[in-house]
Amino acid sequence: MCGIVGYVGEKDCADILISALSKLEYRGYDSAGIAVFENGKIQVEKTKGRLKDLEEKLKAGHKPVGHCGIGHTRWATHGEPSDINSHPHGNKRVSVVHNGIIENYIKLKAFLIKKGYEFISETDTEIVAKLLDYYYKGNPVETIAHVISEVEGSYGLGIVFADFPDKVFAVRKDSPLIIGAGENENFIASDVPAILKYTRDYYLLEQNEIAVITKDNIEIFDIHGSTIEKELQHANWDEEAAEKGGYEHFMLKEIHEQPTALKTTITPRVMENMPFLEECGITSDMLNRFQKIYIVACGTAMHAGVVGKYVIEKLARIEVTVDIASEFRYREPVLTENDLVILISQSGETADTKAVLRLAKESHVTTLSIVNVKGSSIARESDFVIYTHAGPEISVASTKAYSVQLSIMYLFAFQLAYAKGEISKERCSELTKMLTNIPTLIEKTLEVEAQCQYVASKLVNADSLLYIGRGLDYALSMEGSLKLKEISYIHSEAYAAGELKHGTISLVTKTMNIIAVATQDKLFDKTISNVKEVKARGARVILVCKEGVEMTEDVADYMVHVPKVEDDILMPLITAVPLQLIAYYTSVLRGCDVDKPRNLAKSVTVE
Ligand code: GLU
Repeated sequence: MCGIVGYVGEKDCADILISALSKLEYRGYDSAGIAVFENGKIQVEKTKGRLKDLEEKLKAGHKPVGHCGIGHTRWATHGEPSDINSHPHGNKRVSVVHNGIIENYIKLKAFLIKKGYEFISETDTEIVAKLLDYYYKGNPVETIAHVISEVEGSYGLGIVFADFPDKVFAVRKDSPLIIGAGENENFIASDVPAILKYTRDYYLLEQNEIAVITKDNIEIFDIHGSTIEKELQHANWDEEAAEKGGYEHFMLKEIHEQPTALKTTITPRVMENMPFLEECGITSDMLNRFQKIYIVACGTAMHAGVVGKYVIEKLARIEVTVDIASEFRYREPVLTENDLVILISQSGETADTKAVLRLAKESHVTTLSIVNVKGSSIARESDFVIYTHAGPEISVASTKAYSVQLSIMYLFAFQLAYAKGEISKERCSELTKMLTNIPTLIEKTLEVEAQCQYVASKLVNADSLLYIGRGLDYALSMEGSLKLKEISYIHSEAYAAGELKHGTISLVTKTMNIIAVATQDKLFDKTISNVKEVKARGARVILVCKEGVEMTEDVADYMVHVPKVEDDILMPLITAVPLQLIAYYTSVLRGCDVDKPRNLAKSVTVE
């Protein structure tokens, strides 16, 4: 959830730790801290708040000067965000930063209290620090191996021992960590953007592997202390790609990056105008085996799954169930060997989605993941993986990662429908060609930006909104509504337009704002009837529809027209853009922290 970094080299450690942590801010956090060796002693500085608060604290007080240390941005799980609960934790002998949750911390804490330890924070992390201290007899790797054999839960840990002022230690389980390999300097980090300014080479740390880094050496051990040889990875993302590139916010930049992200994701999966997923191991034979599909994910990724359901069922005539991962994992689903479980996750580290993956594997069900981050846990553990190529998504509110997830849903549906003989080769190729043309159409769609800004100016003081639509427009409305509420803090709900009169319409008065999405020809008149019903009750209506649609004024107060795709089935890819832009500008006009909305984290690695 939070960010971990570590550095050993020749430069000023505190500066590097803070700069590296700033590249992980997108992961969400509530406090920050560092531990740096100064004259051979561990110096800890930490504070509740943002990295700039930590920097101010260092400026006003004491900034430790040294070349080796660890840093952390915390997203509180145990104990409120406070100075005391901030990481690092430890004492003069050992200092620890932790990402994750130690599940058996109460038992371990009781044990340590009996041994005479006192605890000053409410965190689960402090027990790791004290346990390391308790077992430490001079050999850090041995000590770490002992401690991880006793703790249960998830952890990415960055550790320094006072006896080894030129070394940083790291270990992980169910929480990501990489080891950055530089020249005369080495790093640990929760994610690649943290090290890109310094190096593009890194190692992926696997479950319970222990890394020891010095200025010019990286060693990785297994839990028994044997050395492990690993393959060096190379990050193709340059630093530029992780910066705002001239836009006011990452979110706006990422909305504008959608044509490129889609092109990069779709192009390698299309051959001679037909979907081509064979490179991911997905063959027609394999697809023909499945009788039921479960799509399981959280948040925006789950909404991409809802569009996927409509498209797969319509084209491939196979039953699809979409589930929220945190529900699915505990509801004892009926899984059989002819089922396919599709997991969608931008980060590939979403805790609940990962748990569903493991559940499916235990039930011997085939798993396919759709993931943006290479080498992430979900990608590595599933039977098949289709990577989306959105590049790093920094804004907490997902935009381009959603679009590319949709594009994979379409390619998958086309291939499956063709494999099952539900659509002809001509139809499959026609749909694939339309999909390939989407990036160009999205470039055109982005021209509605000014109109969306205008619509946002009308919503800025709204208390509540309803998004309504039918079929694919409803599926898309779910995402539009989530986008608005997560970044502008205006309450909103997506409703199937035909369901309104079964209860929710009682909320509709002249203070209610409605965004109606109507891009599906077959359902258009029915949606418009629902629009009229809310309009008759005084609601302010914003109608999102295809270019060329004209309405009399009393149907909608504002209209946003988007380019048409030849087949309505692909419209969600286009219509997502104005909904993202309306949410974005509403958030900006309300003065919200667009890229880092309150209480939210980019990668939800805890349950
Ligand atoms: N569970 C730890 C805490 O509450 C770490 C949380 C995090 O991952 O930032 O301090």
